[in-house]
Amino acid sequence: MLELEEALSRILTRMPAPRREVVPLANALGRVALDPIAAPISLPPFDNSAMDGYAVRAADVTNVSQENPRSLRLIGRTAAGEVFGGEVAAGTCVRVFTGSPLPRGADAVVMQEDTRTDAGAPGAVAFLDSAKPWENVRFAGEDVKAGTAVANPGERISAGRASLLAALGISTVAVARQPQVALLATGSELREAGQPLAPGQIFESNRLGLGAFVAQAGGRPQRFPLVSDTLAGTRAALAEAFAQSDVVVTSGGVSVGEFDFVKDAFTALGGELNFWKVAIRPGKPFVFGQLGEKFLFGVPGNPVSALVTFFLLVRPALLRWQGARDLAPPTHPGTLTEPLVNRGDRRHFIRVAVDPTGSVRPSGVQASHFLSSLADAHGLVDVPPATTLAAGQPVRVLRWDI
Ligand code: AMP
Ligand code: MG
Repeated sequence: MLELEEALSRILTRMPAPRREVVPLANALGRVALDPIAAPISLPPFDNSAMDGYAVRAADVTNVSQENPRSLRLIGRTAAGEVFGGEVAAGTCVRVFTGSPLPRGADAVVMQEDTRTDAGAPGAVAFLDSAKPWENVRFAGEDVKAGTAVANPGERISAGRASLLAALGISTVAVARQPQVALLATGSELREAGQPLAPGQIFESNRLGLGAFVAQAGGRPQRFPLVSDTLAGTRAALAEAFAQSDVVVTSGGVSVGEFDFVKDAFTALGGELNFWKVAIRPGKPFVFGQLGEKFLFGVPGNPVSALVTFFLLVRPALLRWQGARDLAPPTHPGTLTEPLVNRGDRRHFIRVAVDPTGSVRPSGVQASHFLSSLADAHGLVDVPPATTLAAGQPVRVLRWDI
């Protein structure tokens, strides 16, 4: 039985190099960038106004107040998107708006609220407050200088980064291809929602949660038909799934029962089993295998074990497949409000709920068939074998809800 880290490193070393494709930036959200990206221009691209107001020479509006206003001659107006052709000379000002290029000669902008105009004298503006040099001016390049790195290889493109790239005029990005992931559920007891349940049958639930995790990790999930527990049926289903996908995730049928056919069906197809047991709870039976350049991840059928093992072992694999640099799940520091007890001899990944203040508590009964505590869990806390983490103790929650 492998330790978790050993299992993970065996998986990760088998992942191939990412495959490139160039996509429109609009389709790149959440994808892994593969090339360094340098800023083609500076941001802001030119000095501009941070306010609606008047561009002035700061020297013209010193020692100015409500009681002691100063009047300047209004010589023009420049809306955002326009450029003022003239120059702000001593004693003059130009009407500007947020984002207007700073007119030549001006070195400050006074916000509209600190000025007064008189409809009867449209050629002048009264200033009611002093301005310091460069007040309310946004400088060219103060945000990003042309040539600096704005995305690094291995980084997933966030909404914020996509905005930055868009502002730089970048319209396409080289990203990793996304793995096509087949989701197979094995078990003769399983039925699709909407089908009638005969005695002894249950609704299949793993493909949905696993599919959500696949998508979160940047993969493209595809649900395949239910597989009943026969060697021939499992083998045919695997063959079809491998023909259409880069990665196949099966659930169930990886234990030691006489109806557990995933391992045998996979080797019958020519697949090479790498390992099939990991020392964690929930989820001891977990199969990793390779078929050419494609991979099998066989997670246990118990819904909790299926999601936990996927989260710990398949999620990082899918990310590595895409060349992602950061494979670890997001973590959240918190404090236990109740003890977490692991009496067993394997690491127990306990489902927990976190409140906004950082209090962490078990999300319910921890048996691996309990879906209610799965639904209420924000993530997991890794509790070592034969260990009790006491109430009040700080813990790190592996977040799976973000
Ligand atoms: P197995 O890993 O095939 O031995 O299944 C372990 C337990 O999980 C059994 O109670 C199964 O009925 C249940 N199970 C297996 N696959 C699924 C599934 N896809 N959806 C819901 N329950 C499942
Ligand atoms: Mg089964």
